[in-house]
Formats: sequence, structure tokens, C-alpha cells
Amino acid sequence: MNQHVESDSLERPWAQAARQPRIAIIGAGFSGIASIIKLREAGYTDITCFERADQLGGTWRDNTYPGLSCDVPSHWYSYSFELNPDWPHRFSYGPDIWAYQDRVADKYGVKDAIQFGNAVIDLTYVGPEWKIRSEKNGEEVFDFVIAATGVLVNPSYPDIEGLDEFEGAKFHSARWDHSVDLEGKRVGIIGTGSTSAQIVGAIADDVGHLDVYQRTPHWMIPMPQKTYSSAWKRTLKLFPGLQRFIRNRMRRLMEASFGEATMGNAKMQQRIEKRCLKHLKQQIPDPELRAKLTPDYKATCKRLILCSDYYPALMKDHVDLVTEDIERIEPKGLRTKDGELHELDVLVLATGFRFNDFILPTEVYGENGQSLRDFWNELPRAHRAMTFPGFPNFFMLEGPTGVFGNTSVVDISEHQVGYVIRFLDEMKEKGIAAVAPKREAYDAYNANMAKQIPKTTWATGGCDSWYLDKSGQPNIYPFSPDTYRRDMQNPDFSEYRLMEAVTAEEGSREVA
Ligand code: NAP
Repeated sequence: MNQHVESDSLERPWAQAARQPRIAIIGAGFSGIASIIKLREAGYTDITCFERADQLGGTWRDNTYPGLSCDVPSHWYSYSFELNPDWPHRFSYGPDIWAYQDRVADKYGVKDAIQFGNAVIDLTYVGPEWKIRSEKNGEEVFDFVIAATGVLVNPSYPDIEGLDEFEGAKFHSARWDHSVDLEGKRVGIIGTGSTSAQIVGAIADDVGHLDVYQRTPHWMIPMPQKTYSSAWKRTLKLFPGLQRFIRNRMRRLMEASFGEATMGNAKMQQRIEKRCLKHLKQQIPDPELRAKLTPDYKATCKRLILCSDYYPALMKDHVDLVTEDIERIEPKGLRTKDGELHELDVLVLATGFRFNDFILPTEVYGENGQSLRDFWNELPRAHRAMTFPGFPNFFMLEGPTGVFGNTSVVDISEHQVGYVIRFLDEMKEKGIAAVAPKREAYDAYNANMAKQIPKTTWATGGCDSWYLDKSGQPNIYPFSPDTYRRDMQNPDFSEYRLMEAVTAEEGSREVA
């Protein structure tokens, strides 16, 4: 809850009353945890973090499926301020990432700022303050809101007739039901994205029979996994500079290869495609099966999958790749369009997430009561992937048009927290009560993106993917991540309306 502040100082905005801004953070995943740590380091200590679950960790708490791992190298998928010489593998498994988050949270004492099991219901701006209604606390007032609600959060359930009629066990990959024993069972999995590939490789040897329902084949490159030795970990501990070097090297490798290919570098894109085809040929000797697994769109159009054990799993006698379209789901199993009923005991929905929801369904009401939902009108956009005209003092980490390609979102969100802090410092220094991007700056920013987006492989690659929004355009940052990082380090305050408060009751007036 808010720290105690004198009532007369509350009548004036924080930046003019020499008091701490009351900061609400929504979500205690990677970006929420970084926000608490970095804000405190910068001297902002009145922080309340709302977390709807009983534990921190975001997507790494919610996803517990067999084989869960990260396709961004461990040393790159870590906080820059908390390098981890003890990563057991080059590409971490889910439990190791969750344990890292928990350890960092303990080390920096962030858990006392988190209200677990307290979901935010809605947020309303009553200038220059935000009123936040939460399940446990009712209404509270804050000066600043950071939405750290994550991206791939809300499971997407397939719109297939009869889904609710299935009599066996059925669950989404992000809500894995560990009470269901797969041993010897007939299991079906819908979807062939990164999640499915990891699950199939992990469970194939345990189940009695496995059907993998593929709507579209995905491009797949081998995962160069490696287990780090104790000697290597000791070396890293002795030489922190080496850890930093490795982190940067992994960043450069990922961004110069996969990143470049997604941004439209044809040469790199073709190199990756060639490598994927070689991988497919090496692992799938059967030409008929190989044909079914060969995509007819460009590699990196959909998120490229890094996986070395999916194709070998498909080669097993008791594993079938089903490419016939699904007609409907019935109590006993899944009927495909050719009329065949595939009888199943367990149905896994590895059908991805509703990427374009962001903070929704939590409603956000800005100036004049406008809702963020209406402002977006099903096409979420943001200024610098973080802020919205008409929504002062509201910053979203990993918001629309963010840097979601093959790079580390942990790193990007750290840069975004730095951006927020630069605003707080500026506001404190100048006595500014509220900031929101100017409409013209927002429009110019998004127009510039719209010019670049059609040049990317996400747009030209000839595929459908979760990157696309309702207009069919990728809702993702089309320039180099380095450009975005630089922008985060050097905020252009002239893009923003800077408002000074008259009183909390009267609202605020613009100074720039
Ligand atoms: P995804 O990439 O969106 O894949 C969803 C799969 O479900 C696709 O194969 C899709 O087919 C299929 N599908 C959806 N609706 C369907 C329907 N009605 N009928 C038949 N098939 C349907 O989701 P994801 O695999 O969960 O991955 C999401 C993202 O999470 C990844 O791109 C990645 O960014 C992240 N992730 C990362 C890792 C990692 O670090 N290794 C692991 C898991 C997830 P279509 O292709 O035809 O649409």
C-alpha cells in the first residue's frame, strides 16, 4: 500500500511537494522485478506491485509444460545487473529461469513491494493521479503507473467446434495439468509452434501414442544446446568481465543473424532457410514426411523455432504428424476432414497466446474517461512501444510495436525501465506533474514504423503469425534493437506534453 505521506503534501503533485511519487507496477514478471529494483536504486521507493498470482515470474511461472526452455541464450536472457555464472545450460530450461527470478527477487528484497494474489480490476486517470481498483484493496491513488503485464500471457484457445465436448483430459500448454499422467496414454497436441515442438520432444517417449496436429509447418533450426561444466562456471565467477563479453557476444550473434533476417536482410534470411532445410533433411529421411514438414513461406516470417528433438520424435513409430484439417472435436477424440476419428485420452492445446491483448482485459481509462481499449480499437499501437496520448503518467513495458523479434525481452524491458526513470528525474527536476506523448509525435512515430514494416520478413514472408494484428500488419518494431535502445537512453521530452498541476482537484495545465 501507499507509504504514509502528510495530507497537505498530497494536495500538491509529488514533483512539487518534495515527496516520493506513489508508483504502481502491475505484474511481477521479469520486467516488474527489474522495475522495482531499478526504481529503488534511482531513489524512488514508494512502490506497490500488484501481482494477480501467488508467485512472481510471469510467463516462467505460468508455463510449466514438459520440455519448457528458452530459445534465447541464458547469458543474454538475464539482467545486465545480475549476471549469472551458474547457468547450467547455454539455453535455459524453464525451472532454472524461474529459480533465477526468485533468487534475484530475494537478493534485492523486492518481494516486500509485491502484493501477491491481488489482481488490478481497472485504472482511471483523474489528473494528475491514477485511481487503481484492485481485488483486495479497493481503490487507491497513485501518481504513476507502470504496466509490466507481459506479452504472451493470455492463452489463445482454438475456435474448433466441439472443443468443450471432449471427455478426456484437456488443457492449454500454458496451464499444464500435472495431475494427468501421460504414461501409455493416447495424446493429441494441436499446434506446431515453439511450445509444441518442445513438448513433443519431451513427452514422445512417455506416451502410448502421440498425434501432432499441424495446420502449417514451421521453420526449425537446431538448438545448439550445451551443458556448462563446473570448471566453466568457476571461470566465469573469477572473471565477471568474461560473463559480460559472452552476454554481448550472444546478443550480437542473435541480432546479426535472426534479427537481421526478420528485418528483411535477404541474404541472411536465405542462409537461415538453407540451414533449416539441411536440418530437416538430416533428421527426416522419409521424403513424404519431409514434404509435409516443409513450409511454403519464408523462414523467420513466423517465429523461427530452435529445436533439435522435434523431428526425431516425429520419426518414432507411435508418433503421427496429422496434416489433415480438423473437422471437429468429439467426446472420444478429434475428427479430421477426411472423416477419420483420432481417439484420444488427452488433448493438449499448444495454440499460442492472444498477443494483441497486452494489458487487456484490465481496463485503463485515461483523460476524459477514454478507455485504452477504445483508443486502440483492436489495433494496439504505442509511442515508442510504451506510452499513449491521453494516458498521462502511464508507461507500458513490452507494449505494442515493441522489440519482440529474436532478442532478449529481459534486456529490452531493462532499457524501458531506464526510460521511465529518466522521465521521473526530469519531472522531479522541473516540477512537472504529468507527462503524456503528444498526438502528433505518436502519429509521426507510428507512420515511420508503418513505412518500414512492409519491408520486414514478418510482412513479406507470406505467412500468418502471432505478430500480425487485425489489419494483417506485424505489430512489432521493424528497426534494429540498437536503435530502440538508443532511443530509450535519450528520451526526447519535446515529444511529450509536460503538465504542471494546479491542485490535485483542479487537474493539470500544460507547460510544454
Ligand atoms: P504459436 O507460435 O502462436 O503457435 C501456435 C500453434 O497453434 C501454431 O502451430 C498454429 O498454427 C496452431 N493453431 C492455433 N490455432 C489453431 C487452430 N484453430 N487449429 C489448428 N492449429 C491451430 O504459439 P507458441 O508455440 O505457444 O509460441 C508462442 C511464442 O512464445 C513463440 O513464438 C515464442 O516467441 C514464445 N515461446 C518461446 C519459447 C522458447 O523460448 N523456446 C517456447 C515457447 C514459446 P498456424 O501456424 O497454422 O497458425
